[in-house]
Amino acid sequence: MFSKILIANRGEIALRVIRACREMGISTVAVHSTADADAMHVRLADESVCIGPPAGVQSYLNVANVISACEVTGAEAIHPGYGFLSENAAFVQALEDHGITFIGPTSEHISTMGDKITAKDTMKKLGVPCVPGSDGGVPTVEEARVIAADMGYPVIIKATAGGGGRGMKLARTADDLDAAFSGARTEAKAAFGNDEVYIEKYLEKPRHIEVQVFGDGKGRAVHLGERDCSLQRRHQKVLEEAPSPVIDAETRARIGKTCADAVAKINYIGAGTIEFLFEDNEFYFIEMNTRLQVEHPVTEAVFDVDLVQEQIRVAAGEEMQFHQEDLTPNGHSIEVRINAEKLPEFRPSPGTITAYHAPGGLGVRMDSAIYQGYRIPPYYDSLIGKLIVHAETRETALARLSRALSELIVDGVDTTTPLFEALLEEPDIQTGNYTIHWLERWLEGQTAGD
Ligand code: ADP
Repeated sequence: MFSKILIANRGEIALRVIRACREMGISTVAVHSTADADAMHVRLADESVCIGPPAGVQSYLNVANVISACEVTGAEAIHPGYGFLSENAAFVQALEDHGITFIGPTSEHISTMGDKITAKDTMKKLGVPCVPGSDGGVPTVEEARVIAADMGYPVIIKATAGGGGRGMKLARTADDLDAAFSGARTEAKAAFGNDEVYIEKYLEKPRHIEVQVFGDGKGRAVHLGERDCSLQRRHQKVLEEAPSPVIDAETRARIGKTCADAVAKINYIGAGTIEFLFEDNEFYFIEMNTRLQVEHPVTEAVFDVDLVQEQIRVAAGEEMQFHQEDLTPNGHSIEVRINAEKLPEFRPSPGTITAYHAPGGLGVRMDSAIYQGYRIPPYYDSLIGKLIVHAETRETALARLSRALSELIVDGVDTTTPLFEALLEEPDIQTGNYTIHWLERWLEGQTAGD
């Protein structure tokens, strides 16, 4: 086992990894930008190293500085968290060259899944059902027109290098195609430096269902059920739950096995998530994330596992402790993302937290790195906490979430808490009757009614 791990991240996920390490008797190294010198992950880690100025590209994304921090402190492994360098194949390759262990999959797995066309192609060959679409990249709008006409509208134009919901444009009819095609390319070029796009059939009323997988790198893999992340704004998840209200045990076992078998065949190592759109009882693969997800705690709650500790164990070469026959979901878990944002525009609301009280009690978990007096810097994403509840049934989990939200106090900045309080009043949320478009439509209705 490792004796020292460096965490190449910040915020709540850095704390999540520090907690896992401390329980395993592993010392931790935090890295931070100059803007994060007072951050909680710096306080709670055993050691810390400043790796650059506030901008992410100069600090948390600065490969040379992260590797130097590892060498200076003698850390043997790096946990990347999510975002930043977590899916950067060149970074993982650099670690492989320096003899530092990356707590995650190989650079090859990352590059295969990081390119969405290659990912889709690989999954199709492994027997995973995919969204109908173009075979590979579509270089010209003329070709796009032929493919779209053949497949039937509506279609969605997506960036090959996509992520975070960027570089994606909908064309409802042939009239929209030119604008959607050039819009997606421009956005993709700006966001990823790569303007290659591909086409998929646009699904009208799907849910977003994702399967948690875990591999030992030696041909054995398991699944830990699904998460339902259909509540989204601008293709970004807002609330996640496990299990999904629309997936029964037989369906879970079937899609779970398909996913576990697929990643076992490629000797996948560590945690991964296979994302699907689910419509009319069919699954359509959209992408695989080769890292820990923001919403991993709902899976931890229902399966009673620690995904981060298991990531560390398999990265250190130990046997994977998960066995499919022991993995049975228990109860229901819901996570809401508390962002420092001002509603209704969801405008970032950085500033100083003047009072903070975290909810507690049975079945409540608050993953956050904020504290009273903490100044939220304006340079990073606006997630300031994740509130996760677990209860016997979906209904009791909703009641627990409502109770926990009523205890949460974050003063000094605006947060998305009122959004969740309002959502919990909605019959569709109470019954679990929502698709990926539900929230956008509901938000439009809210502003229209103002
Ligand atoms: P990203 O990597 O940018 O997150 P994804 O491919 O995972 O992109 O898609 C993100 C979200 O965009 C999905 O959860 C869904 O809401 C929407 N989406 C993507 N592909 C389609 C599609 N073919 N039809 C309808 N919605 C889609």
